[in-house]
Amino acid sequence: MESTTLEKDTATDLSEDFPLFDKLQNYKHEQIVVCSEPTMGLKAIIAVHDTTLGPALGGVRMWPYNNEQEAIRDVLRLSRGMTYKAAISGLNLGGGKAVIIGDPRKEKSEALFRAFGRYVDSLGGRYITAEDVGTDVQAMEWIRMETKYVTGLPKAIGGSGDPSPVTAYGVYQGMKACAKKAYGSDSLEGKRISIQGAGHVSSYLAEFLEKEGAELFICDIYEDKVNALAEKVGAEVVDPDEIYGLDVDIFSPCALGGIINDDTMDQFNCDIIAGAANNVLDEEEKHGQMLLDSGIIYAPDYVINAGGLINVASELEGYNEERAHGQAEKIYDTILDILNYSEENDTPTFTASNILAEQRMSNVGKIHNIYTSQSNFTGHIGDLYKHANL
Ligand code: NAD
Repeated sequence: MESTTLEKDTATDLSEDFPLFDKLQNYKHEQIVVCSEPTMGLKAIIAVHDTTLGPALGGVRMWPYNNEQEAIRDVLRLSRGMTYKAAISGLNLGGGKAVIIGDPRKEKSEALFRAFGRYVDSLGGRYITAEDVGTDVQAMEWIRMETKYVTGLPKAIGGSGDPSPVTAYGVYQGMKACAKKAYGSDSLEGKRISIQGAGHVSSYLAEFLEKEGAELFICDIYEDKVNALAEKVGAEVVDPDEIYGLDVDIFSPCALGGIINDDTMDQFNCDIIAGAANNVLDEEEKHGQMLLDSGIIYAPDYVINAGGLINVASELEGYNEERAHGQAEKIYDTILDILNYSEENDTPTFTASNILAEQRMSNVGKIHNIYTSQSNFTGHIGDLYKHANL
């Protein structure tokens, strides 16, 4: 019988070409799990960044990454972001994320997601998955066939359904907090507010704003979408290229990431930027500082759009829409705390938010030093699942 040689394969030698442990230790990741099921074509990576506050929750992204290193970088970056988002939102959750390397338009299948679900299950609740770019409710239902550690399920089977309404409510509350800071009153009546994108979140957001008597300006790359929403909420339609320079009180980015950048920075003609879109600062430090210097109040994206996470997290305790809305309402206080810290310490708001999130993790981490007979109890998954009969 031919023997299998385990010769050094430089192409896959991560320690030489891609110092994996350096990468993990750099941003304090706890664990990555590489999942392979060749029959189904499953190539997935699960990253658990930090579980100080509880099990790591974060979506699974399916994307045709150009190579494995790109996928690893993405999962490390995204899982770390989830730690901060959960921490600043007052949730008892850690940060995690997963990526599946593949084209979601061609390679989604029941077997693939069920295989992924079994890997999630093997972590015993250290990682809880959810929807993300390239995955959907159907994928979550397939995963649910193999593990209970999945959220973002349809309401019909005890899930939280579409997160957009709760995300929009959180953005609305965060926007009001910014107004309180800028104008001394959180009323949005008569405020000129521009919204980029006429999608899921902005549709609900625009309704809240219309009810409060704001004057709305909306753009989208799809004419039919923007016209329908504008008609519904009595907004003025503007050209997507004109949205940045519009003379308004508040600009709400609800479409794309990276839109606060070198090209747009000089165009902004507003007091406040507060919207749902993820990763809106093209370069966090540089553009965060530029916003501070220009006197524009910026609500950090991962704080103001945490309603989506809050919504899926509430599934862990048996979904309750009212409770999810109640938690999203607290985004008002969180944003106000961040804006005050930013002002007192003359630091960009996203830095202020990171500091406050780290403080919470550090303080809660320290209480784990106190011995109790149930020292391993995290207050979450496991016991609560039992109570919820899931
Ligand atoms: P969506 O796809 O429903 O809406 C986005 C809209 O933006 C679409 O109508 C699209 O046509 C439009 N758009 C794309 N490029 C544009 C451009 N250049 N100019 C103007 N409009 C453009 O997405 P969504 O679920 O409403 O999410 C919006 C943003 O909020 C995304 O960045 C998403 O990551 C973030 N977010 C969403 C949730 C949620 O609960 N849905 C939660 C957290 C964060």
